[in-house]
Amino acid sequence: MKNIYLLGATGSIGTQTIEIIEKHPEEFKLKAISGYKNLDKIKEIASRFSLDLISVKDKEDAKSLEELYPYINIVYGDSGLVSLSTLNKDDENGVLINALVGMVGLRPTIEAIKINRDVLLANKETLVVGGHLIKELLEKHKVNLYPIDSEHNAIWQILQGEDTKAIKKLYITASGGSFRDLNREELKEVTLKEALNHPNWSMGSKITIDSATMMNKGFEIIEAAYLFDLDIDSVVPIIHRESIIHSMVEYIDSSISALLAIPDMRMPISYAMFYPKRKESLIKPIDFTKLSKLSFEPVDYIRYPLVKLAFEAYNLGGSARTVLNAANEAAVALFLSEKINFLEIEKIVIRAVSNHKVIEFPSLEEIYEIDLAVKKEIYGHYKN
Ligand code: NAD
Ligand code: MG
Repeated sequence: MKNIYLLGATGSIGTQTIEIIEKHPEEFKLKAISGYKNLDKIKEIASRFSLDLISVKDKEDAKSLEELYPYINIVYGDSGLVSLSTLNKDDENGVLINALVGMVGLRPTIEAIKINRDVLLANKETLVVGGHLIKELLEKHKVNLYPIDSEHNAIWQILQGEDTKAIKKLYITASGGSFRDLNREELKEVTLKEALNHPNWSMGSKITIDSATMMNKGFEIIEAAYLFDLDIDSVVPIIHRESIIHSMVEYIDSSISALLAIPDMRMPISYAMFYPKRKESLIKPIDFTKLSKLSFEPVDYIRYPLVKLAFEAYNLGGSARTVLNAANEAAVALFLSEKINFLEIEKIVIRAVSNHKVIEFPSLEEIYEIDLAVKKEIYGHYKN
């Protein structure tokens, strides 16, 4: 029996995680959840599970829940997320699932590792900005961090029993996002509604926009370099429109292993939750008689400049990745509130990274300072 501490329970990954927990009450017990603004969803989850702790956005929301649930510990804000990830410190069966969006997930992940708690990570922004800190802590505390992101989960599955020294390349597949059939000229006219309409996956709004700009793939390249301890130039993004192959590993003998499944996040979430066992999942297998083709195209870095920028930011060193992420979080938030157009997202992120003076190994405090400063400047610029 695993005890689940779930950050981001009200989101897309969080909801699918809860579906798996509900299907397997003999394997998992949901102990604590965080939400942010969606109190109705939090109440709905609280009515179905016996929770020890709920973390919400602010004091006001916490108060309203305290009246409803006098026996549940209600916490709030960024410190509430840490209270959740470190709840019941001595719980040997405790696992943190981090399904938050954005770098707000960094500190709770770090604190969970410090109490020797294994982490199942969907929240890739955490590795983009704090990969160097997380890696060091994982080694120090002998803690496991398992990826939920489908590409990395696929590579993790493929590498079971393999000698990681024999890896030559990782192919990270990419759908190409909502605008894969448009050229840069056509991108000038696109709307928010169109951007939110992903061809293959149903996900939260931020990652859907990140997929359309392919910043998401840039983040995943950095995520892969950290998770699998590889030189970043061994990580190769490739457009695969069908999202059936979730990623591939090429070995030194030129053989290649791929992991295939229909695009449904309940597969990687299940694999990470049940690991090291494999159990039946909630998804259907591929019907090869209905698969007409699997296609592949190289990523054009002029069409998708943020993928190229991710390589550059990684090579520039530590704090360039903080800036890459912070500028992107701010730019996507501005686009989601219709304050800027689609192509301005790229401009903002590129400008922020090129204006930054790099600190090679920023501390956690420096990361938070830089994050705040970058976001403040961008929001200040687009205030009206
Ligand atoms: P989502 O927007 O659906 O959910 C995000 C969750 O985080 C919600 O519970 C929300 O309440 C919470 N949250 C947002 N801002 C917060 C803040 N400032 N403080 C505290 N809580 C906050 O996002 P999602 O699609 O579930 O994605 C979650 C993470 O998983 C992201 O890092 C994303 O890149 C990654 N991921 C998602 C998918 C997918 O299919 N959805 C696939 C791969 C990776
Ligand atoms: Mg992914």
